[in-house]
Amino acid sequence: MTYPTQPQASHYIAGEYAEDTSGAPIPVICPATGDTIATVHAATPALIERAITAAGEAQRAWAALTGTERGRILRRAADLIRERNRDLSVLETRDTGKPLQETLVADATSGADALEYFGGLAGTLTGEHIQLGEDWVYTRREPLGVCLGIGAWNYPTQIACWKAAPALACGNAMIFKPSETTPLSALKVAEILTEAGLPAGLFNVLQGAGDVGAALVEDPRIAKVSLTGSVPTGRKIYAAAAAGIKHVTMELGGKSPLIIFDDADLEDAVGGAILGNFYSSGQVCSNGTRVFVHRAIKEKFLSRLAERMQGAVLGDPLDEATNFGPLVSARQLEIVQDHVARAKAKGARLITGGEVLDQPGFWISPAVFADVSDDMAIARDEIFGPVMAVLDFETEDEVISRANATEFGLSAGVFTRDISRAHRVVAQVQAGTCFINSYNDAPVEAPFGGMKASGVGRENSKAAIAHYSQLKSVYVRMGRVEAPF
Ligand code: NDP
Repeated sequence: MTYPTQPQASHYIAGEYAEDTSGAPIPVICPATGDTIATVHAATPALIERAITAAGEAQRAWAALTGTERGRILRRAADLIRERNRDLSVLETRDTGKPLQETLVADATSGADALEYFGGLAGTLTGEHIQLGEDWVYTRREPLGVCLGIGAWNYPTQIACWKAAPALACGNAMIFKPSETTPLSALKVAEILTEAGLPAGLFNVLQGAGDVGAALVEDPRIAKVSLTGSVPTGRKIYAAAAAGIKHVTMELGGKSPLIIFDDADLEDAVGGAILGNFYSSGQVCSNGTRVFVHRAIKEKFLSRLAERMQGAVLGDPLDEATNFGPLVSARQLEIVQDHVARAKAKGARLITGGEVLDQPGFWISPAVFADVSDDMAIARDEIFGPVMAVLDFETEDEVISRANATEFGLSAGVFTRDISRAHRVVAQVQAGTCFINSYNDAPVEAPFGGMKASGVGRENSKAAIAHYSQLKSVYVRMGRVEAPF
């Protein structure tokens, strides 16, 4: 069955679809069924060259427009995405396996938010004037040039828009390489941007695995690299970008703490733990997968959590009643299965789930482990799947120091009714994005990104502008030049 949203070819270059079947075939597999729903081809060197050339040529004219003109196109694209939300969500669901119930509200819509927000901001970008007696300096906020976006497979539309929107608003061009696991929806973003009036060459999509990404990162004509991916990939790309002294944004992995004090509203805390572990089948970078629960309420928390876990509805992700989908790939299922087996072997108490479903596709039921200790792999490694580790604690100081004892620093959450404690704790946790009595909200108005190994730079908000532009200072002398000879 073909769907109306299916992209017409593998790549998008200079304002149109492009194909070269001599590139290695990449099957696109529907995670819910294991069926191949499309095949794209990896970009060949000739296509990479075409995309970089087209982006470079288009960027100069784009940067010469006013911010308001650029922003108008981005806002039009946001409107088109919202009008087509259902179609785009169906495509995202088939590509990622995430339930339609989620993709309808969290994927294309979040991409549209970014295009709308940065479209609005584009006309407000200014430099500053610095008076120095009679002389003065003014600054110009200039684009970087051709930016490269490399995406992970969990939020393909959102990631493409979160990178493209600020890049384009600032007057850059972008080449985007989606994850080879979920290559389809970035092409639809490109198609919609063209329809909204974006000149050809400003947003290009090239498919391929890590080698295509690496070739792009190394090209001297690429000025900036923005990656959403794992820490090991981040290390490689950061190093390659450093060789060319390129700007980077690194949105990497996490193993975030969610701290639940004994005065927390139990129902909200359980809800926060579910949201922060099982949305998108646990495949969310900022998930609070180390759930520290105060010893006094641990058993009450676990029993209410076990009850609410009965509400997980596994089924056809295109059925809007389904609220828990498959994992994205066979490889991801293997990783999660392995972690579940190791946790059991290490003596963690399985409260519920962790069972692989005997059906096509990559299905495992959401798992909760209690009595987890800090040294177990499920408390240390980013699993990127539906495995919640519940750890208990006694004191505030103890839990803060255990929460920080990780190389990651993406997110953290605190549930408590004591407002002073809430602010005291978030001030001490080493994490770029924190939540008080909530979890995993990601409004475009707020900066998003990690500390420590979880990343460099920030996406969203006004902070992203600094990462997609550079300042030029211009000194203006009003008097004579006094030279020593
Ligand atoms: P990977 O790190 O495996 O891949 C990320 C992207 O980098 C993919 O497009 C991949 O291509 C590409 N890539 C891999 N190797 C190279 C290389 N040497 N040079 C250039 N590009 C390369 O991550 P996943 O796709 O598995 O995504 C999951 C990870 O992403 C998790 O760690 C998660 O936490 C993180 N993530 C972080 C977010 C954040 O904002 N902080 C948000 C979402 C996810 P290909 O896949 O085609 O091989």
